[in-house]
Amino acid sequence: MEHAGKHALVTGGGTGIGAGIAIALAKAGANVTITGRRADKLAEVVATSDRLHALVMDVDEEASVRDGIAAAAKERGPIQICVANAGIAEGGPFAKTTLAQWRKTMTTNLDGVFLTFQAAMETLEDATPARMIVISSIAGVRGLKNAIPYTVTKHGVIGLIRGLSEEYMRRPITFNALCPGYVDTDIVRAQIPGVMKKFGVDEQGALDVFAKGNRHQKLLEVDEITAGAMWLCSDGARGVNGQTIQISGGQV
Ligand code: NDP
Repeated sequence: MEHAGKHALVTGGGTGIGAGIAIALAKAGANVTITGRRADKLAEVVATSDRLHALVMDVDEEASVRDGIAAAAKERGPIQICVANAGIAEGGPFAKTTLAQWRKTMTTNLDGVFLTFQAAMETLEDATPARMIVISSIAGVRGLKNAIPYTVTKHGVIGLIRGLSEEYMRRPITFNALCPGYVDTDIVRAQIPGVMKKFGVDEQGALDVFAKGNRHQKLLEVDEITAGAMWLCSDGARGVNGQTIQISGGQV
């Protein structure tokens, strides 16, 4: 119960990596606000613990983020753990990427993290300890072909945590990024039909395409990313600040 009494916020907490981290934080005693656009997905996760609370919030919309986070903090206290996890991944060749697609990825993956962090930090007093975590990607530390906007945003959030770790150096807040390789979640599963078509393979063949960069030749599981987040939130990680932690089966 290391986090008993703390209020944690996990964006995109209704599915995948966000749900895994939210459930683990609740098991460790935190009251966890999970956010996303789909109320039904949030409800499924909230049903697993009394300490999980749903908040419908669209990270593309400034008012939705600012009002939602302020309301959650009013109810459950300052946000001492903030996991900016919500994100989208749309692929395609650079030459065919439209400005609208580029802007959409920037809005969700970059502006959304900026708004989430800023609104969460507004709930904190100067002396309140806090952990700010963003879910970047291996695409934050290396280039990923056919996913240029995604790659740019995942590099961008690493700039954000590095800058913030300098700007808030005298306060008891840490800012870190987790950089997963391919994890078996909806974001990867949604790309399977396209990969099957492109490579002329069946579903397993498509999963193998994602897994081949991983030295263990398999997709990561959500609990591997959850473990990284729980370590960053632990007391022992209080000196880890401004870091990018790759959980990628050695892919980078
Ligand atoms: P999911 O698709 O399961 O999770 C994405 C989550 O983001 C969903 O819960 C979704 O909820 C939420 N979301 C997306 N857009 C918005 C929005 N505009 N406002 C609010 N919430 C939003 O996939 P993952 O769990 O895999 O992805 C989580 C994070 O991990 C992402 O940032 C992704 O880039 C990153 N990541 C994933 C990897 C993987 O291989 N799976 C690898 C590296 C990084 P809703 O649609 O209900 O709003």
